[in-house]
Amino acid sequence: MPRRQLEKSDPIVIVGAGAFGLSTSLHLALRGYKNVTVFDKHDYEISKYDYRSGADSASSDLNKIIRSAYGSQTEYQDLSKEAIEWWNAWNEEIRSGKDLPPGLHPEDNVYINNGTLAFTDKDELPSFELETVRNMEAAGLGGTQLITMNPDHVEVAKRRGLGYGIDPFRCEERKKGNVGVLDTTGGVVVADKACRFVLHKAQTLGVKFVLDAKAGAFESYSYDSAGKVIGVKTKDGRKHLAKKVVVACGGWTPTLVPQLDGLCETTAGSVIMLKIPHDSPLFDRFAPERFPSWMWKLWDGADGGLYGFPRDDKGWMKIGYRGRKYTNPQTQPDGTVRSVPVTRYTPEKKVTQIPQSAMKVFKHFLAEYLPELAENGIDIELTRLCWYTDSFDNHYVVDDVPGQDVVMVATGGSGHAFKYLPNIGKWIVDIMEGVEMERTLVKRWQWRALEAGVKPFNILMEGITSAKAFENVAWSTDSDLRLGSKPRL
Ligand SMILES: Cc1cc2nc3c(=O)[nH]c(=O)nc-3n(C[C@H](O)[C@H](O)[C@H](O)COP(=O)(O)OP(=O)(O)OC[C@H]3O[C@@H](n4cnc5c(N)ncnc54)[C@H](O)[C@@H]3O)c2cc1C
Repeated sequence: MPRRQLEKSDPIVIVGAGAFGLSTSLHLALRGYKNVTVFDKHDYEISKYDYRSGADSASSDLNKIIRSAYGSQTEYQDLSKEAIEWWNAWNEEIRSGKDLPPGLHPEDNVYINNGTLAFTDKDELPSFELETVRNMEAAGLGGTQLITMNPDHVEVAKRRGLGYGIDPFRCEERKKGNVGVLDTTGGVVVADKACRFVLHKAQTLGVKFVLDAKAGAFESYSYDSAGKVIGVKTKDGRKHLAKKVVVACGGWTPTLVPQLDGLCETTAGSVIMLKIPHDSPLFDRFAPERFPSWMWKLWDGADGGLYGFPRDDKGWMKIGYRGRKYTNPQTQPDGTVRSVPVTRYTPEKKVTQIPQSAMKVFKHFLAEYLPELAENGIDIELTRLCWYTDSFDNHYVVDDVPGQDVVMVATGGSGHAFKYLPNIGKWIVDIMEGVEMERTLVKRWQWRALEAGVKPFNILMEGITSAKAFENVAWSTDSDLRLGSKPRL
């Protein structure tokens, strides 16, 4: 069906100032839309997207991995290539020092191209990595994927100053296999700084932001007498009329758009944070100039699915686990049980620990691959639940809600959308305008249902009896945070 044409002066409301909402607002402004307002229940002007300052969205984070490696999904590989061009341009822009938001300095980078190593404890490379190598070559990007067991590739890595990325866990020294691929196009995106940068850019281009627990919080839709959405109502009781409402509330979207039942569910990833002291010999070892981003057995089920980063300039080192994602199923006012996010900062019920099963995988990995942390008396400082919005097929959802063409969702990040902060909004605005709707990704992101007999990538909405449901999960305790085999000095 052809899309309803928007005028450049039409009021457009975006709910949610995470990666999807921010990027959409930026690209609307770049395309000349003059009346765009972003609402968020969290005041990012204060927290600056810093998790430790109270920001608990998926996008409010120290860092995220960027990779071009997408196995057979060359359309995301291409999207990564497009994103990396933007990330590099943003680094240049920041370096120029012109019009930076508070807290950002010319020496800051939002993208660090330190490489992303995907490795395994198996004897052979998984088919996903082999397909990536083939597909990057086919795309004219041969030589960007370096296989750790190939001596020629090791030489190339050294020549390019990325030798540290081949065996960062000292597997050879530890007599372990070192089977992996270093994606030299990838690395770290500095999530909190990048969000601040985009918010400021969008503001400068005229986008209005209402970031407040009441005035910014979506309460309900506003309807006309025929039952069509004509805007939103916020928690302060005000109505905001709009020709288009984009709901981009990450893990909170499925509760605001119940039509997403069966298509999207919010699930929790587990994260640990370690702090490497400046005077520790490990501070240099884990510096981004000497240590890559990494993914360990990413697609290997509950025993794998770890990923991690070099330390940041304050010494924080983050490791995440997605081998099993957990749910918090709660009965909603409409009687349906849906998973809802709960975090360290949720007013009603806080969660500061992570599931014990996730902690076990972290500790096994740390003992096997990073024993020097315990040997140097470094413990886990902080645990976090970070809320994904998974779709059943791991593709995003960018489309109008069936029967309500004023409301569009931009969600379903499925754990891999932050890297597209610079360009996802361009695609979302294209979809809003009905531009080039035949593109593979545009079609993948359409509203859809799981076809009978098709195995989902993510099994959704298993409810309260699921082994992944919080009710059935044992939790870590403070004593689990201790790694140090030696007492701290
Ligand atoms: C543990 C974890 C690790 C990840 N790692 C990576 C990675 O390495 N690389 C990568 O590319 N991607 C990664 N991702 C995915 C990426 O973080 C997400 O896809 C992306 O950040 C989602 O952005 P979003 O805008 O959909 O949601 P969010 O960032 O969660 O933003 C949603 C916003 O909506 C707001 N909101 C909610 N309810 C309301 C309401 N009622 N009214 C107003 N505002 C509301 C929230 O306050 C929030 O600001 C990871 C995700 C997780 C959870």
